[in-house]
Amino acid sequence: MIDVNKIRADFPILSRKVNGQDLVYFDNAATSQTPNQVIEVIVDYYSRLNSNIHRGVHKLSQEATDAYETARIKIQKHFNAAEPYEIILTAGTTESINLIASGYTKFLNPKDELMISAMEHHSNIVPWQMLCEKTGAHLKVIPMKLDGTLNMEAFDKLLNSKTKLVFVNHVSNALGTVNPIKEIINKAHGYEALVLIDGAQACPHIKPDLQALDVDFYVTSAHKLCGPTGVGMLYGKAELLKELPPYQGGGEMIATVTFEKTTYADLPHKFEAGTPNISGGIAFGAALDYMNSIGFDTIAKYENELLTYCTDALKKIDGIKIYGEAPDKTAVISFNVGEIHPYDLGSILDQLGIAVRTGHHCAQPVMDFFEIPGTVRASFSFYNTFEEIDRFIAGIQKALLMLR
Ligand SMILES: *Cc1c(COP(=O)(O)O)cnc(C)c1O
Repeated sequence: MIDVNKIRADFPILSRKVNGQDLVYFDNAATSQTPNQVIEVIVDYYSRLNSNIHRGVHKLSQEATDAYETARIKIQKHFNAAEPYEIILTAGTTESINLIASGYTKFLNPKDELMISAMEHHSNIVPWQMLCEKTGAHLKVIPMKLDGTLNMEAFDKLLNSKTKLVFVNHVSNALGTVNPIKEIINKAHGYEALVLIDGAQACPHIKPDLQALDVDFYVTSAHKLCGPTGVGMLYGKAELLKELPPYQGGGEMIATVTFEKTTYADLPHKFEAGTPNISGGIAFGAALDYMNSIGFDTIAKYENELLTYCTDALKKIDGIKIYGEAPDKTAVISFNVGEIHPYDLGSILDQLGIAVRTGHHCAQPVMDFFEIPGTVRASFSFYNTFEEIDRFIAGIQKALLMLR
């Protein structure tokens, strides 16, 4: 059982007023809120440890390096990666994907095919389009069904010996669909294709076991799981990361530098040029500790109750259409009511202190598939409550009286 009142006390922002009302924060799929346990780690870093890591002989630098590398091990353990150096700390999901896309430029040719799904975030589309432009490789798209699940029969047909890389999100941020990534990984490996999973939307709700999945690359952002912005992870199997060229050149990523030739540092430093987001990396580890102290099974069970409660209540509203009704989904509800523009509904909800997202959610192809400009999206976290959902439903009803 979750003690939601105790949990809410950990999040200072949740007691904020917005437009004179108690904040209802239902935009967790865009970014999650930060508990005191994580904020304090950031404050402590700048109050006690601040210094540059990996280089200094002095005490502060050693302590900061220890804290940063301890966080890397926490992340490794959380995701069950085989080695700490398979965890590359990046600026987030977007940078992790661009790092891989840039690295594969030299390995692809015009005969090769890459595959993405129809429900990807723009950050898991555009870097691959850029890679195809540079190499002449072709981008194939796994289509989607009307319930918001992937068309796996079509995936089977698209997969062939020219397929080199497959990119799919673990959970869709626009629809909440949990994709069958283990099946995708196994089938792709049958053709010796590598798989990158975009876990940005999954990691707040699911604890993936990367070795059991046998995934080649897995990426995520700390800010969606109670951590700070500007830090995230690229996991890659060591043998794959070793053969990839560095992404950025600079300090920290070298073994030796002369004007004739530079040799690169070992993993993970080869991919971590320059001074990283040190406090962010440490706080990423603290965010995982915080979420694990509640427990991912407990989180998933409670969020699922919120999802069912809200879905049932929304379905009673005249003219409502929910997009994405996969049997396995996380607590994201994308919807429209009749012809009402999502922006108009979102603005009235904001006046009532209720934060939802409106628009295409960085997944325009999903909106095109449903032939709509966008949706209203409510997304829940374990600190949300049934009372907040009641206020949300009442808010929609009030908005409909004004808009209809
Ligand atoms: C949020 C999100 C991203 C982008 O993450 P950034 O932190 O903005 O880099 C990519 N994919 C999915 C599925 C997301 O939810």
